[in-house]
Amino acid sequence: MGPEVEAFEDEFASYCEAKYCVGVGNGLEALHLILRAYGIGPGDEVIVPSNTFIATWLAVTECGATPVPVEPDVVTHNINPCLIESALTSRTCAIIPVHLYGQPAEMDPINALAAKHGLIVIEDAAQAQGARYNGRRTGSLGHAAATSFYPGKNLGALGDGGAVLTNDLAIAERVKQLRNYGSKVKYHHDLVGYNSRLDDIQAGFLRAKLTVLDQWNSRRKAVADRYTKLLTGAGLHLPFVPKYAEPVWHLYVIRSHQRDALKAHLEQLGVATVIHYPIPPHRQACYQDCKERFLPISEKLAREVLSLPMCPTLGPAEIDHVVHSVLSFQGSLSGD
Ligand SMILES: *Cc1c(COP(=O)(O)O)cnc(C)c1O
Repeated sequence: MGPEVEAFEDEFASYCEAKYCVGVGNGLEALHLILRAYGIGPGDEVIVPSNTFIATWLAVTECGATPVPVEPDVVTHNINPCLIESALTSRTCAIIPVHLYGQPAEMDPINALAAKHGLIVIEDAAQAQGARYNGRRTGSLGHAAATSFYPGKNLGALGDGGAVLTNDLAIAERVKQLRNYGSKVKYHHDLVGYNSRLDDIQAGFLRAKLTVLDQWNSRRKAVADRYTKLLTGAGLHLPFVPKYAEPVWHLYVIRSHQRDALKAHLEQLGVATVIHYPIPPHRQACYQDCKERFLPISEKLAREVLSLPMCPTLGPAEIDHVVHSVLSFQGSLSGD
């Protein structure tokens, strides 16, 4: 937590159009520390997407609260704001929308609902550094936001890292205290805190990479645009970009009813793909007590999603090889 961390915190806060940034150990801890800073704990319920990466749920469970899953919109793959209200109870304290795959969640109706019911909105922006919703950066759209600098994210360190963003000075200060053993003054501990530091050397790497993040995100967009142009009409579900969204293409996720066969076909042709995510959180052994067992949309997505290769350095020849490999599979299907 030296001078590089402080400089990075200032630079990343202004990049995200937020007042305060607090560097922490990773994205999971960023979420967890925000929940702790708001005093969310045992007996409380927190709305989470049913189809997110498990960290969103774990942060809620780790502070003693209960994650309450809400299904996504089947077109955008992001939490469906229309389904949130019926999941609220007198114990609901917060909503964690996730900007999944770098696509901003539909924040206006979520914020309106939160205002109506007095709930905290915590963005999980781990996959969305630089994305915009109605022109505004993700990370500054709710009460607080968590992000991750895991090396595979759009803004990745050379090891683990994360950050909390907020416009609320009291929350920023509380997170600062919690990340540092609950201490404001050395050897005085007012809270039962954690050790969740962002390393100075990682902050230094992040400062260098932040200067090219927009450029790299626009190269991801060029890859996505080419995929969309060449795969439209091939009988696959392609990513949908709503009017309000400027995504940053952390992932380019297609859907196929023959997902496993398509994946195997691509692998034979030298195209590596990944499934984000193959098992929804409520089907994980660690959540076998989850009361919500019937979440058909997230189960359908888990069966059908496939992430095509995506990174800023993918060239036209590589993109075309991926596209031709996908089309050769789709062609063999329609020839049956
Ligand atoms: C990566 C990720 C996290 C967790 O970040 P870590 O730094 O790996 O702990 C949380 N939520 C989402 C949506 C993520 O993709």
